Amino acid sequence: MNAMQRVVVLGSTGSIGVSTLDVIARHPERMSVYALSAHSRMEQLAEQAAASRAAVVVVPDDAARARFLAAWNGSAGQRPEVRVGAQALADTAADSRCDTVMAAIVGAAGLPSALAAAQAGKRVLLANKEALVAAGPLFMNAVRASGAELLPIDSEHNAIFQCLPHGARASAPTEPAAGVRRLLLTASGGPFRRADPADLESVTPEQACAHPNWSMGRKISVDSATMLNKGLEVIEAHWLFAMPPERIEVVVHPQSVIHSMVEYEDGSVLAQLGQPDMRTPIAYALGFPERIASGVGGLDLARLGRLDFEAPDFDRFPCLRLSFEALRAGQAASVALNAANEVAVQAFLEGRLRYTWIPRVIQAALEWQAGRSSVTLASLGDVLALDADIRAYAGNLGVV
Ligand code: NAD
Ligand code: MG
Repeated sequence: MNAMQRVVVLGSTGSIGVSTLDVIARHPERMSVYALSAHSRMEQLAEQAAASRAAVVVVPDDAARARFLAAWNGSAGQRPEVRVGAQALADTAADSRCDTVMAAIVGAAGLPSALAAAQAGKRVLLANKEALVAAGPLFMNAVRASGAELLPIDSEHNAIFQCLPHGARASAPTEPAAGVRRLLLTASGGPFRRADPADLESVTPEQACAHPNWSMGRKISVDSATMLNKGLEVIEAHWLFAMPPERIEVVVHPQSVIHSMVEYEDGSVLAQLGQPDMRTPIAYALGFPERIASGVGGLDLARLGRLDFEAPDFDRFPCLRLSFEALRAGQAASVALNAANEVAVQAFLEGRLRYTWIPRVIQAALEWQAGRSSVTLASLGDVLALDADIRAYAGNLGVV
Protein backbone atom coordinates (compact mmCIF):
# COMPACT_ATOMS: atom_id res chain seq x y z
CA MET A 1 0.00 0.00 0.00
CA ASN A 2 1.24 3.50 -0.87
CA ALA A 3 2.00 5.96 1.87
CA MET A 4 -1.25 7.73 1.02
CA GLN A 5 -4.12 5.40 0.13
CA ARG A 6 -6.31 7.01 -2.56
CA VAL A 7 -9.88 5.76 -2.36
CA VAL A 8 -12.81 5.67 -4.79
CA VAL A 9 -16.20 5.40 -3.06
CA LEU A 10 -18.82 4.02 -5.44
CA GLY A 11 -22.26 4.76 -4.02
CA SER A 12 -20.99 7.46 -1.67
CA THR A 13 -24.44 8.84 -0.83
CA GLY A 14 -25.71 5.53 0.52
CA SER A 15 -25.55 4.13 4.01
CA ILE A 16 -22.20 2.35 3.43
CA GLY A 17 -20.82 5.28 1.44
CA VAL A 18 -21.52 7.76 4.24
CA SER A 19 -19.92 5.45 6.83
CA THR A 20 -16.89 5.04 4.56
CA LEU A 21 -16.39 8.80 4.25
CA ASP A 22 -16.70 9.08 8.03
CA VAL A 23 -13.84 6.59 8.54
CA ILE A 24 -11.65 8.13 5.81
CA ALA A 25 -12.04 11.59 7.36
CA ARG A 26 -10.60 10.23 10.64
CA HIS A 27 -7.29 9.38 8.93
CA PRO A 28 -6.19 12.33 6.78
CA GLU A 29 -2.54 11.32 7.17
CA ARG A 30 -2.99 7.90 5.58
CA MET A 31 -5.93 8.04 3.17
CA SER A 32 -7.76 10.47 0.91
CA VAL A 33 -10.73 10.43 -1.44
CA TYR A 34 -9.95 10.29 -5.13
CA ALA A 35 -13.48 9.88 -6.53
CA LEU A 36 -17.11 9.61 -5.44
CA SER A 37 -20.19 8.36 -7.29
CA ALA A 38 -23.91 8.72 -6.72
CA HIS A 39 -27.05 7.97 -8.65
CA SER A 40 -29.65 10.46 -7.49
CA ARG A 41 -28.78 12.74 -4.55
CA MET A 42 -26.65 15.36 -6.28
CA GLU A 43 -26.87 17.95 -3.49
CA GLN A 44 -25.49 15.42 -1.02
CA LEU A 45 -22.81 14.40 -3.52
CA ALA A 46 -21.77 18.03 -3.96
CA GLU A 47 -21.43 18.46 -0.20
CA GLN A 48 -19.44 15.23 0.10
CA ALA A 49 -17.13 16.18 -2.77
CA ALA A 50 -16.42 19.60 -1.24
CA ALA A 51 -15.79 18.17 2.24
CA SER A 52 -13.56 15.33 1.04
CA ARG A 53 -11.82 17.34 -1.73
CA ALA A 54 -12.58 14.60 -4.25
CA ALA A 55 -10.81 15.04 -7.59
CA VAL A 56 -13.56 13.27 -9.54
CA VAL A 57 -17.29 12.60 -9.22
CA VAL A 58 -19.27 10.19 -11.39
CA VAL A 59 -22.97 10.79 -12.09
CA PRO A 60 -25.44 8.82 -14.20
CA ASP A 61 -26.44 11.29 -16.93
CA ASP A 62 -26.26 14.86 -18.19
CA ALA A 63 -29.27 15.95 -16.15
CA ALA A 64 -27.54 14.74 -12.98
CA ARG A 65 -24.37 16.52 -14.08
CA ALA A 66 -26.31 19.80 -14.39
CA ARG A 67 -27.83 19.26 -10.95
CA PHE A 68 -24.43 18.54 -9.46
CA LEU A 69 -22.95 21.72 -10.96
CA ALA A 70 -25.91 23.78 -9.75
CA ALA A 71 -25.52 22.32 -6.25
CA TRP A 72 -21.76 22.93 -6.10
CA ASN A 73 -20.98 25.66 -3.59
CA GLY A 74 -17.34 24.95 -2.90
CA SER A 75 -14.69 27.11 -4.53
CA ALA A 76 -14.55 27.04 -8.34
CA GLY A 77 -10.89 25.99 -8.30
CA GLN A 78 -11.65 22.98 -6.17
CA ARG A 79 -14.59 21.76 -8.26
CA PRO A 80 -14.08 18.11 -9.21
CA GLU A 81 -14.04 16.71 -12.70
CA VAL A 82 -17.56 15.39 -13.42
CA ARG A 83 -17.69 12.12 -15.35
CA VAL A 84 -20.97 10.82 -16.78
CA GLY A 85 -22.43 7.35 -17.32
CA ALA A 86 -21.93 3.67 -16.57
CA GLN A 87 -18.70 3.35 -18.58
CA ALA A 88 -17.19 6.27 -16.66
CA LEU A 89 -18.09 4.47 -13.44
CA ALA A 90 -16.17 1.34 -14.49
CA ASP A 91 -13.26 3.42 -15.82
CA THR A 92 -13.02 5.34 -12.56
CA ALA A 93 -12.98 2.09 -10.57
CA ALA A 94 -9.98 1.03 -12.67
CA ASP A 95 -8.32 4.48 -12.70
CA SER A 96 -4.55 4.30 -12.19
CA ARG A 97 -4.77 7.25 -9.79
CA CYS A 98 -6.58 5.20 -7.14
CA ASP A 99 -5.45 2.28 -4.94
CA THR A 100 -8.66 1.25 -3.22
CA VAL A 101 -12.26 0.97 -4.38
CA MET A 102 -15.22 0.78 -2.02
CA ALA A 103 -17.94 -1.01 -4.04
CA ALA A 104 -21.08 0.22 -2.27
CA ILE A 105 -23.61 0.63 -5.06
CA VAL A 106 -26.76 -1.35 -4.33
CA GLY A 107 -27.87 -4.20 -6.59
CA ALA A 108 -26.55 -5.79 -9.78
CA ALA A 109 -26.10 -2.22 -11.09
CA GLY A 110 -22.87 -2.25 -9.09
CA LEU A 111 -21.45 -5.33 -10.80
CA PRO A 112 -19.62 -3.77 -13.80
CA SER A 113 -17.74 -1.22 -11.70
CA ALA A 114 -16.87 -3.73 -8.94
CA LEU A 115 -15.61 -6.15 -11.59
CA ALA A 116 -13.57 -3.38 -13.25
CA ALA A 117 -11.86 -2.66 -9.92
CA ALA A 118 -11.07 -6.37 -9.49
CA GLN A 119 -9.72 -6.66 -13.04
CA ALA A 120 -7.53 -3.60 -12.48
CA GLY A 121 -5.92 -5.22 -9.42
CA LYS A 122 -7.20 -2.74 -6.85
CA ARG A 123 -7.76 -3.27 -3.17
CA VAL A 124 -11.50 -3.96 -3.47
CA LEU A 125 -13.68 -3.33 -0.44
CA LEU A 126 -16.76 -5.29 -1.42
CA ALA A 127 -20.05 -4.20 0.15
CA ASN A 128 -22.08 -4.93 -2.97
CA LYS A 129 -23.05 -8.55 -2.31
CA GLU A 130 -25.33 -8.70 -5.37
CA ALA A 131 -22.20 -8.56 -7.57
CA LEU A 132 -20.86 -11.79 -6.07
CA VAL A 133 -24.24 -13.51 -6.17
CA ALA A 134 -24.72 -12.69 -9.84
CA ALA A 135 -21.14 -13.26 -10.96
CA GLY A 136 -19.22 -15.15 -8.27
CA PRO A 137 -16.96 -17.23 -10.54
CA LEU A 138 -16.27 -14.32 -12.89
CA PHE A 139 -15.49 -11.95 -10.07
CA MET A 140 -13.26 -14.32 -8.12
CA ASN A 141 -11.37 -15.28 -11.29
CA ALA A 142 -10.77 -11.59 -12.00
CA VAL A 143 -9.36 -11.14 -8.49
CA ARG A 144 -7.05 -14.11 -8.97
CA ALA A 145 -5.92 -13.06 -12.45
CA SER A 146 -5.06 -9.49 -11.50
CA GLY A 147 -3.78 -10.12 -7.98
CA ALA A 148 -6.36 -7.73 -6.55
CA GLU A 149 -6.86 -7.66 -2.79
CA LEU A 150 -10.44 -8.54 -1.87
CA LEU A 151 -11.71 -7.48 1.54
CA PRO A 152 -15.31 -8.24 2.47
CA ILE A 153 -17.31 -5.40 4.00
CA ASP A 154 -20.55 -7.24 4.71
CA SER A 155 -20.33 -7.54 8.51
CA GLU A 156 -20.71 -11.34 8.52
CA HIS A 157 -18.03 -11.92 5.91
CA ASN A 158 -15.74 -9.36 7.44
CA ALA A 159 -16.17 -11.21 10.77
CA ILE A 160 -15.36 -14.54 9.12
CA PHE A 161 -12.34 -13.02 7.40
CA GLN A 162 -11.12 -11.77 10.77
CA CYS A 163 -11.61 -15.24 12.33
CA LEU A 164 -9.87 -17.20 9.57
CA PRO A 165 -6.28 -18.35 10.14
CA HIS A 166 -3.55 -15.92 9.14
CA GLY A 167 -2.25 -18.36 6.55
CA ALA A 168 -5.62 -18.11 4.80
CA ARG A 169 -5.27 -14.50 3.75
CA ALA A 170 -5.34 -15.28 0.04
CA SER A 171 -7.57 -12.77 -1.67
CA ALA A 172 -9.48 -15.38 -3.64
CA PRO A 173 -8.99 -18.90 -2.26
CA THR A 174 -9.77 -21.89 -4.43
CA GLU A 175 -10.44 -24.23 -1.50
CA PRO A 176 -11.63 -23.85 2.11
CA ALA A 177 -8.99 -22.70 4.58
CA ALA A 178 -7.17 -25.64 6.20
CA GLY A 179 -8.60 -26.79 9.51
CA VAL A 180 -11.94 -25.05 9.06
CA ARG A 181 -15.02 -27.21 9.53
CA ARG A 182 -17.87 -24.75 9.03
CA LEU A 183 -18.77 -21.10 8.70
CA LEU A 184 -21.54 -19.93 11.03
CA LEU A 185 -23.36 -16.91 9.62
CA THR A 186 -25.36 -15.03 12.21
CA ALA A 187 -28.69 -13.42 11.30
CA SER A 188 -30.75 -11.03 13.39
CA GLY A 189 -34.01 -12.43 12.03
CA GLY A 190 -35.11 -8.91 11.09
CA PRO A 191 -38.26 -7.10 12.21
CA PHE A 192 -40.62 -10.06 11.60
CA ARG A 193 -38.76 -12.81 13.45
CA ARG A 194 -41.74 -13.41 15.70
CA ALA A 195 -44.54 -11.91 13.59
CA ASP A 196 -47.75 -13.82 13.02
CA PRO A 197 -47.53 -15.01 9.37
CA ALA A 198 -51.11 -13.78 8.82
CA ASP A 199 -50.01 -10.22 9.63
CA LEU A 200 -47.31 -10.26 6.98
CA GLU A 201 -49.94 -9.85 4.22
CA SER A 202 -50.38 -6.20 5.13
CA VAL A 203 -46.77 -5.25 5.88
CA THR A 204 -45.84 -1.73 4.69
CA PRO A 205 -42.40 -0.63 3.40
CA GLU A 206 -41.94 1.43 6.56
CA GLN A 207 -42.50 -1.63 8.76
CA ALA A 208 -40.20 -3.78 6.64
CA CYS A 209 -37.45 -1.14 6.72
CA ALA A 210 -37.57 -0.73 10.51
CA HIS A 211 -34.67 -3.05 11.29
CA PRO A 212 -34.22 -3.73 15.01
CA ASN A 213 -30.40 -3.35 15.07
CA TRP A 214 -28.96 -1.91 11.84
CA SER A 215 -29.63 1.31 9.93
CA MET A 216 -29.25 0.52 6.20
CA GLY A 217 -30.50 1.37 2.72
CA ARG A 218 -34.10 0.45 1.93
CA LYS A 219 -33.41 -2.46 -0.42
CA ILE A 220 -31.13 -4.33 1.99
CA SER A 221 -33.55 -3.54 4.83
CA VAL A 222 -36.38 -5.33 2.99
CA ASP A 223 -33.97 -8.17 2.19
CA SER A 224 -33.21 -8.45 5.90
CA ALA A 225 -36.92 -8.65 6.72
CA THR A 226 -37.47 -11.50 4.23
CA MET A 227 -34.07 -13.02 5.15
CA LEU A 228 -33.25 -13.06 1.44
CA ASN A 229 -30.31 -10.96 2.62
CA LYS A 230 -29.01 -13.93 4.61
CA GLY A 231 -29.53 -16.11 1.55
CA LEU A 232 -27.45 -13.72 -0.58
CA GLU A 233 -24.84 -13.82 2.17
CA VAL A 234 -24.69 -17.63 2.11
CA ILE A 235 -23.95 -17.42 -1.63
CA GLU A 236 -21.48 -14.61 -0.99
CA ALA A 237 -19.67 -16.73 1.64
CA HIS A 238 -19.58 -19.67 -0.75
CA TRP A 239 -17.65 -17.62 -3.31
CA LEU A 240 -15.49 -15.54 -0.98
CA PHE A 241 -14.25 -18.46 1.09
CA ALA A 242 -14.57 -21.34 -1.43
CA MET A 243 -16.89 -23.06 1.05
CA PRO A 244 -19.41 -25.72 -0.04
CA PRO A 245 -23.05 -24.90 0.84
CA GLU A 246 -23.35 -27.78 3.33
CA ARG A 247 -20.54 -26.25 5.39
CA ILE A 248 -22.27 -22.88 5.73
CA GLU A 249 -24.82 -22.66 8.53
CA VAL A 250 -27.17 -19.82 9.39
CA VAL A 251 -27.88 -19.21 13.06
CA VAL A 252 -30.38 -16.60 14.24
CA HIS A 253 -28.88 -14.28 16.85
CA PRO A 254 -31.30 -11.42 17.54
CA GLN A 255 -28.84 -9.09 19.31
CA SER A 256 -26.47 -8.76 16.30
CA VAL A 257 -23.43 -8.63 18.59
CA ILE A 258 -21.66 -11.69 17.20
CA HIS A 259 -21.23 -10.84 13.53
CA SER A 260 -20.33 -14.41 12.49
CA MET A 261 -18.10 -17.33 13.45
CA VAL A 262 -15.64 -19.89 12.12
CA GLU A 263 -15.70 -23.43 13.47
CA TYR A 264 -12.46 -25.43 13.32
CA GLU A 265 -11.78 -29.16 13.12
CA ASP A 266 -10.65 -29.25 16.76
CA GLY A 267 -14.04 -27.95 17.93
CA SER A 268 -12.89 -24.36 18.49
CA VAL A 269 -15.30 -21.67 17.39
CA LEU A 270 -13.90 -18.16 16.83
CA ALA A 271 -16.33 -15.27 16.79
CA GLN A 272 -16.01 -11.56 16.02
CA LEU A 273 -18.13 -9.30 18.22
CA GLY A 274 -18.87 -5.61 18.19
CA GLN A 275 -21.55 -2.98 18.05
CA PRO A 276 -23.72 -3.17 14.95
CA ASP A 277 -21.97 -0.30 13.17
CA MET A 278 -20.56 -0.78 9.66
CA ARG A 279 -17.68 1.58 10.37
CA THR A 280 -15.93 -1.34 12.13
CA PRO A 281 -15.66 -3.62 9.08
CA ILE A 282 -14.99 -0.58 6.85
CA ALA A 283 -12.10 0.56 9.06
CA TYR A 284 -10.78 -3.00 9.25
CA ALA A 285 -10.63 -3.19 5.46
CA LEU A 286 -9.25 0.34 4.94
CA GLY A 287 -6.52 -0.21 7.51
CA PHE A 288 -5.75 -3.86 6.77
CA PRO A 289 -3.52 -5.40 8.01
CA GLU A 290 -3.35 -2.69 10.68
CA ARG A 291 -6.16 -1.80 13.07
CA ILE A 292 -7.28 1.82 12.87
CA ALA A 293 -9.88 3.92 14.69
CA SER A 294 -13.41 3.74 13.31
CA GLY A 295 -15.35 5.95 15.70
CA VAL A 296 -17.17 2.91 17.09
CA GLY A 297 -17.17 2.44 20.87
CA GLY A 298 -16.75 -0.81 22.78
CA LEU A 299 -19.21 -3.39 24.03
CA ASP A 300 -20.79 -3.26 27.45
CA LEU A 301 -21.24 -7.00 27.89
CA ALA A 302 -22.58 -6.83 31.43
CA ARG A 303 -25.26 -4.43 30.27
CA LEU A 304 -26.05 -6.63 27.28
CA GLY A 305 -26.48 -9.47 29.75
CA ARG A 306 -27.14 -12.26 27.29
CA LEU A 307 -26.72 -13.46 23.75
CA ASP A 308 -29.47 -15.63 22.26
CA PHE A 309 -29.40 -18.12 19.40
CA GLU A 310 -32.00 -20.13 17.52
CA ALA A 311 -32.27 -22.14 14.31
CA PRO A 312 -33.68 -20.29 11.28
CA ASP A 313 -37.28 -21.08 10.33
CA PHE A 314 -37.26 -21.99 6.65
CA ASP A 315 -41.08 -22.08 6.49
CA ARG A 316 -41.48 -18.61 7.89
CA PHE A 317 -38.65 -17.32 5.68
CA PRO A 318 -39.07 -19.04 2.28
CA CYS A 319 -36.50 -16.65 0.73
CA LEU A 320 -33.78 -18.32 2.79
CA ARG A 321 -34.77 -21.75 1.51
CA LEU A 322 -34.94 -20.46 -2.08
CA SER A 323 -31.42 -19.04 -1.74
CA PHE A 324 -29.91 -22.38 -0.70
CA GLU A 325 -31.79 -24.01 -3.59
CA ALA A 326 -30.46 -21.45 -6.05
CA LEU A 327 -26.89 -21.90 -4.83
CA ARG A 328 -27.15 -25.67 -5.31
CA ALA A 329 -28.84 -25.28 -8.72
CA GLY A 330 -25.97 -23.30 -10.22
CA GLN A 331 -24.91 -19.87 -11.34
CA ALA A 332 -27.88 -19.09 -13.59
CA ALA A 333 -30.23 -19.74 -10.67
CA SER A 334 -28.25 -17.33 -8.51
CA VAL A 335 -28.58 -14.64 -11.18
CA ALA A 336 -32.33 -15.35 -11.31
CA LEU A 337 -32.71 -15.24 -7.53
CA ASN A 338 -31.01 -11.87 -7.31
CA ALA A 339 -32.65 -10.23 -10.33
CA ALA A 340 -36.18 -11.39 -9.44
CA ASN A 341 -35.67 -10.20 -5.88
CA GLU A 342 -34.53 -6.76 -7.02
CA VAL A 343 -37.63 -6.42 -9.20
CA ALA A 344 -39.95 -7.66 -6.45
CA VAL A 345 -38.42 -5.49 -3.70
CA GLN A 346 -38.62 -2.38 -5.85
CA ALA A 347 -42.26 -3.14 -6.61
CA PHE A 348 -42.93 -3.66 -2.90
CA LEU A 349 -41.18 -0.40 -1.96
CA GLU A 350 -43.28 1.42 -4.58
CA GLY A 351 -46.51 -0.05 -3.23
CA ARG A 352 -47.16 -2.26 -6.29
CA LEU A 353 -46.55 -5.67 -4.68
CA ARG A 354 -47.57 -7.29 -1.44
CA TYR A 355 -44.74 -8.20 0.92
CA THR A 356 -45.75 -11.87 0.90
CA TRP A 357 -45.44 -11.98 -2.88
CA ILE A 358 -41.69 -11.32 -2.87
CA PRO A 359 -40.81 -15.04 -2.42
CA ARG A 360 -43.49 -16.00 -4.95
CA VAL A 361 -41.94 -13.80 -7.64
CA ILE A 362 -38.51 -15.26 -6.87
CA GLN A 363 -39.79 -18.83 -6.97
CA ALA A 364 -41.57 -18.24 -10.29
CA ALA A 365 -38.39 -16.79 -11.79
CA LEU A 366 -36.30 -19.72 -10.53
CA GLU A 367 -38.76 -22.19 -12.06
CA TRP A 368 -38.87 -20.27 -15.33
CA GLN A 369 -35.07 -20.16 -15.52
CA ALA A 370 -34.79 -23.89 -14.68
CA GLY A 371 -37.09 -24.68 -17.60
CA ARG A 372 -35.00 -22.81 -20.17
CA SER A 373 -32.08 -24.23 -22.10
CA SER A 374 -28.81 -23.80 -20.24
CA VAL A 375 -26.84 -20.60 -20.64
CA THR A 376 -23.11 -19.94 -20.52
CA LEU A 377 -22.05 -17.24 -18.09
CA ALA A 378 -18.47 -16.73 -19.21
CA SER A 379 -18.48 -12.95 -19.47
CA LEU A 380 -19.98 -9.87 -17.89
CA GLY A 381 -22.16 -9.53 -21.00
CA ASP A 382 -23.56 -13.05 -20.48
CA VAL A 383 -24.44 -12.28 -16.87
CA LEU A 384 -26.05 -8.94 -17.69
CA ALA A 385 -28.08 -10.50 -20.54
CA LEU A 386 -29.48 -13.19 -18.24
CA ASP A 387 -30.10 -10.60 -15.53
CA ALA A 388 -32.11 -8.55 -18.06
CA ASP A 389 -34.11 -11.62 -19.17
CA ILE A 390 -35.08 -12.39 -15.59
CA ARG A 391 -36.05 -8.77 -14.90
CA ALA A 392 -38.25 -8.76 -17.99
CA TYR A 393 -39.88 -12.04 -16.94
CA ALA A 394 -40.44 -10.95 -13.33
CA GLY A 395 -41.72 -7.54 -14.43
CA ASN A 396 -44.28 -9.21 -16.69
CA LEU A 397 -45.70 -11.53 -14.06
CA GLY A 398 -48.78 -9.37 -13.75
CA VAL A 399 -48.44 -8.96 -10.01
CA VAL A 400 -45.27 -6.85 -10.10
P1 NAD B 1 -28.15 2.62 -0.18
O1 NAD B 1 -29.42 2.43 -0.90
O2 NAD B 1 -28.12 3.37 1.10
O3 NAD B 1 -27.08 3.33 -1.18
C1 NAD B 1 -26.89 2.88 -2.48
C2 NAD B 1 -25.89 3.75 -3.23
O4 NAD B 1 -25.82 3.25 -4.57
C3 NAD B 1 -26.27 5.23 -3.33
O5 NAD B 1 -25.11 6.02 -3.27
C4 NAD B 1 -26.91 5.34 -4.72
O6 NAD B 1 -26.76 6.63 -5.29
C5 NAD B 1 -26.12 4.31 -5.50
N1 NAD B 1 -26.90 3.71 -6.60
C6 NAD B 1 -28.15 3.20 -6.52
N2 NAD B 1 -28.54 2.72 -7.72
C7 NAD B 1 -27.52 2.93 -8.57
C8 NAD B 1 -27.32 2.66 -9.97
N3 NAD B 1 -28.26 2.08 -10.73
N4 NAD B 1 -26.12 3.02 -10.53
C9 NAD B 1 -25.16 3.62 -9.78
N5 NAD B 1 -25.30 3.89 -8.47
C10 NAD B 1 -26.46 3.55 -7.87
O7 NAD B 1 -27.52 1.16 0.03
P2 NAD B 1 -26.56 0.63 1.21
O8 NAD B 1 -27.37 0.21 2.36
O9 NAD B 1 -25.44 1.60 1.42
O10 NAD B 1 -25.99 -0.70 0.53
C11 NAD B 1 -25.02 -0.66 -0.49
C12 NAD B 1 -24.53 -2.08 -0.76
O11 NAD B 1 -23.87 -2.55 0.41
C13 NAD B 1 -25.65 -3.08 -1.04
O12 NAD B 1 -25.21 -4.00 -1.98
C14 NAD B 1 -25.87 -3.75 0.30
O13 NAD B 1 -26.36 -5.07 0.16
C15 NAD B 1 -24.47 -3.75 0.86
N6 NAD B 1 -24.43 -3.78 2.33
C16 NAD B 1 -24.96 -2.77 3.05
C17 NAD B 1 -24.94 -2.82 4.44
C18 NAD B 1 -25.49 -1.68 5.26
O14 NAD B 1 -25.35 -1.72 6.49
N7 NAD B 1 -26.10 -0.67 4.69
C19 NAD B 1 -24.37 -3.92 5.09
C20 NAD B 1 -23.83 -4.95 4.32
C21 NAD B 1 -23.86 -4.87 2.94
MG1 MG C 1 -24.62 -8.59 6.32
